[in-house]
Amino acid sequence: MLARTSKNSINLLKTAQTAATRIEQRRWLNLQEYQSKELLQKYGCTVQKFFVTDSKKDAQEKIKKFDHKEYVVKAQILAGGRGKGKFPTGRSDITGVLITQKKDDAAGSIEYMVGHKLITKQTPPEGVLVSKVMVAESVQIGRETYLAILMDRDSNGPVIVASPAGGVDIEEVAEKSPHLIFKEPIDISTGVTDEIALRLAEKLEFKGALKNKAAEEIKRLYKLFIAVDATQVEINPFVETTDNRVFCVDAKLNFDDSAAFRQKEIFAMDDHAEQDPRETEAEKFGLNYIGLDGNIACLVNGAGLAMATMDIIKLNGGEPANFLDVGGSVTEAQVYEAFRIITSDKQVKALLVNIFGGIVNCATIANGLIAAFKRMELKVPLIVRLEGTNVDAAKKLLKESNLPILTANNLDDAAKKAVASIK
Ligand code: GDP
Ligand code: MG
Repeated sequence: MLARTSKNSINLLKTAQTAATRIEQRRWLNLQEYQSKELLQKYGCTVQKFFVTDSKKDAQEKIKKFDHKEYVVKAQILAGGRGKGKFPTGRSDITGVLITQKKDDAAGSIEYMVGHKLITKQTPPEGVLVSKVMVAESVQIGRETYLAILMDRDSNGPVIVASPAGGVDIEEVAEKSPHLIFKEPIDISTGVTDEIALRLAEKLEFKGALKNKAAEEIKRLYKLFIAVDATQVEINPFVETTDNRVFCVDAKLNFDDSAAFRQKEIFAMDDHAEQDPRETEAEKFGLNYIGLDGNIACLVNGAGLAMATMDIIKLNGGEPANFLDVGGSVTEAQVYEAFRIITSDKQVKALLVNIFGGIVNCATIANGLIAAFKRMELKVPLIVRLEGTNVDAAKKLLKESNLPILTANNLDDAAKKAVASIK
């Protein structure tokens, strides 16, 4: 999943996430800019007035009552760099951020964004389909700075990263002018004091009355960060306007997934629009799916077994097409759904089930497999390796089903049979 943000420590961690960590029930909630800004508004932070739309017609209607001197139209995708992005099938002269003084142009531009793919430095090469657009009042920017609040592993707590050189790629600033990046670890028990906020505002080069305004804004952003269990609140650019106001012009929030239980409203905002549909489908049934590039589908329980299965398939010259982790307390119905999801991938040429029954009862898996096989007319070879709780009963069930299921005695045997079945 892509994240519209810079490669700070947290994101490096995320982009480096392996299949293993994803299979351990790690799902990163990503919100679109407009959703992040709704949260900012709720906590009193300063954002431009805006509305969200998905069509020219709707925009024409909404903009009638939206009177501003200038408008900024922004494609909503989870990747950054929209200001320098391109719409190969839209209009070559517009990017993902359009500024205009004309209502007609603002509303009219929507048809060149929605339904088209936007390519930026942070998207996959083919781009990301835009399905929503934000239309906001444009502010007159005097200066762009960078502000991010992160939960940082190294300092075991929040850190504020600030740079007077904002708006642009922060990685580039970090590389070429590291002296322009300031880091301020925050003691979680005292939070952002006036002193810290003012010091940061000064480092951001806010002067006079603007310094106090920026400091107050930083304090509000920190309150938001704590209240919503964010792991990151990134404001780039954090601006001063020519009429001496401070605005959060762009916002990217990330959240601590383990806080999902107490942030239900926020987690419910995830519209899954840019997620692999099979991943979404699997989530619905309490399963964990990860898509890969090969042709052997894998149904497993547990992250460790998933990694072992992947390694052994590769060792035997095959490539996994995906992983579906059924977890510990799996039901027959879930096995059916798992089966359906992993075989819906046209790339899949064989299906390998590798279950170690500890908490999982192998007989439940066997019954689920048999039911799924019968209901679905499986067209690819099915190789099953079961071990552990109730394995004998499970093997008996598979045998008596008279279905063409290849059983394997161990992991290596299973992988060999799976690879051989597609040769
Ligand atoms: P990103 O490119 O995806 O990070 O999108 P941003 O929201 O950060 O916008 C990119 C750039 O567009 C900003 O750095 C600003 O220079 C410019 N921009 C965005 N909003 C406004 C606005 O309201 N007024 C003006 N004048 N420029 C804006
Ligand atoms: Mg930005």
